Amino acid sequence: MTEKMNVAKIFGENVFNDKVMQERLPKKVYKALRKTIDEGKELDPMVADVVAEAMKNWAVEKGATHYTHIFQPLTGVTAEKHDAFITAPRQDGTVLMEFSGKELIKGEPDASSFPSGGLRATFEARGYTAWDCTSPAYVREDAAGAILCIPTAFCSYTGEALDQKTPLLRSMEAINEQALRLLRLFGNTTSKKVTPSVGPEQEYFLVDKQKYLQREDLIFTGRTLFGAMPPKGQELDDHYFGTIRQRIASYMKDVNEELWKLGISAKTQHNEVAPAQHELAPIYAEANIAVDHNQLVMKTLKKVACQHGMQCLLHEKPFDGVNGSGKHNNWSITTDDGINLLDPGKTPHENVQFLMVLTCILKAVDEHADLLRESAADPGNDHRLGANEAPPAIISVFLGEQLEDVLEQLISTGTATHSKAGGVLHTGVKRLPDFAKDATDRNRTSPFAFTGNKFEFRMVGSRDSIAGPNVVLNTIVADAFSQACDVLEKADDFELAVHDLIKEYATDHQRIVFNGNGYSDEWVAEAERRGLPNIKSMVDAIPCLATDKAVELFGKYKVFSKAELESRVEIKYENYAKAINIEAKTMIDMASKQILPAVIGYTKSLADTILAVKGAGAPATVQTDLLNDVSKLLEEAKAALVTLEEVTDKAAETGDMAAEARYFHESVVPAMAALRTPVDKLEVLVDKKVWPMPSYSDLLFEV
Ligand code: ADP
Ligand code: MG
Repeated sequence: MTEKMNVAKIFGENVFNDKVMQERLPKKVYKALRKTIDEGKELDPMVADVVAEAMKNWAVEKGATHYTHIFQPLTGVTAEKHDAFITAPRQDGTVLMEFSGKELIKGEPDASSFPSGGLRATFEARGYTAWDCTSPAYVREDAAGAILCIPTAFCSYTGEALDQKTPLLRSMEAINEQALRLLRLFGNTTSKKVTPSVGPEQEYFLVDKQKYLQREDLIFTGRTLFGAMPPKGQELDDHYFGTIRQRIASYMKDVNEELWKLGISAKTQHNEVAPAQHELAPIYAEANIAVDHNQLVMKTLKKVACQHGMQCLLHEKPFDGVNGSGKHNNWSITTDDGINLLDPGKTPHENVQFLMVLTCILKAVDEHADLLRESAADPGNDHRLGANEAPPAIISVFLGEQLEDVLEQLISTGTATHSKAGGVLHTGVKRLPDFAKDATDRNRTSPFAFTGNKFEFRMVGSRDSIAGPNVVLNTIVADAFSQACDVLEKADDFELAVHDLIKEYATDHQRIVFNGNGYSDEWVAEAERRGLPNIKSMVDAIPCLATDKAVELFGKYKVFSKAELESRVEIKYENYAKAINIEAKTMIDMASKQILPAVIGYTKSLADTILAVKGAGAPATVQTDLLNDVSKLLEEAKAALVTLEEVTDKAAETGDMAAEARYFHESVVPAMAALRTPVDKLEVLVDKKVWPMPSYSDLLFEV
């Protein structure tokens, strides 16, 4: 019998949360810190010293020896450098444990070794991490012992953002300011702060560690570059919500325990559609905390997998032909006094403020569909978007029957007089109660779906930070709010002006609303007729970040300067080129050192068999046919390998990152596909005993 877990007791036990602050900080200091956290007031250095001392004492009691400023550079993962609390030895040879306010507030990692996209030359090394006191500090326990982790933002010496966090915090300020403006117009005088809330659902795969270690492609690239489909895939839909196997259940238990200790409210867990695929969803939190927590969730999923003899794959498409993994970014806007601006109430047609907010979001998403699409672009997502069971690369909004009906009334008659109600669900079984139905069914195929009181942005890749998509959402919606306020603040008759504006936005941006099947080919054609962008690949999406429209938008709300946007464009092209280069090289390595030698060995054993069988007087036709088939595919594979080598070699570094990335996309990726085809066919023909790596069946069905 395993030990019983007391969730309420362990929850947040490793977090320097409000309760700990109240217990450990003098009242005045606590109040000053709360003012900084809640209202963004500058922190007095004296206060910082007291907070640092209390934080250190608390962490040391938990066994912490070091502290670190955790930050999120543009590498896709978090970065940290550990500093021990010890001071220089005193005369008597002993040391003290110290941590000052200055050390809490500011760190100075070398900025030159992180991607800066031309913002920083190698000799301009200075960069700063700044404490984001709105995201609580925590103690993390791992092989390195216990470490006090301080969530921070990372900027260059000249103040440019070099990370995911800084623009996110800026975008949160933008939406706070503009949403408050709008709320005041609607007569709200009490709410003091508006914050985007985010709940990311995280999908992942688990495979056996020993098998993982036999696949160079998984080790170096996170996905399989070769692999024939197993006889059984996901066609029976028997994995989704299926019973969780014991090995996985015990893994999930440990993941939850770690996350709860860190104050992360891991809430939902289930098997996903693909074999070996699972999902974890936390309860939503303020956007910046949700971003930090999601990084910790990904780290924890990986760490605990190792402890259970498994490997957690976060890649968007680890297996061809099987569902990929995404992250559903649930997003809403909430006031400090608990009003969700996306809550329509029971009669949305009467909720004018909601309709204004909703139509602003339609306008924002329609005008900046390219930016949203770009925010979900990464090399892995190129395999997922538009493929098997994933949202297409076209942005559209699902509103559901009820809201679409309200909008249609508004557009056609100018006023909405009623809202469709959900009615009652009759189960037809007397012993089961009848349910009150939701007013709207769900649509899993929409990339941006309204789900009751929030939008769910489903395009985001499973490995990516959710900071980028939320920066875009916050900023584009802030801008739509701002434009609406510009009109409404000048209006003589507010009621009339709101009414007209809702109608105008609903009419002008109706094209972005689509309630049908987003996975269908008809939608692709229909979207084209509507003039909606269909941006198919990362390389095509990247330029959206630095268009005049984007520079103006992000500049207006000081989320990104032009230089910051241009640097991000460079970094993204570079990341893409590097990722594909690694994939191509891994393929070349596996094909030339493992797969072709194994196949050659197999042809020899076939040839030996044929000679022996013929020597014994039998015809050996099956063996001869097989040898012919295998030899032909072997030739094809060899030729494709030579081409891939040539094409990859030619990808010289020209200094023009855009051209380089495009070359990888247009020349190297197809050459990789050309090598994969014959190899996957060979895998089916060749004796399993000689195939040099675990198959899809081994990886997906035998965890
Ligand atoms: P489903 O898979 O049915 O969409 P899940 O329970 O897996 O639902 O995940 C829903 C996610 O949405 C959770 O992370 C939840 O916290 C989040 N969420 C719920 N309400 C809101 C809200 N108002 N704002 C942001 N996120 C929310
Ligand atoms: Mg879900």
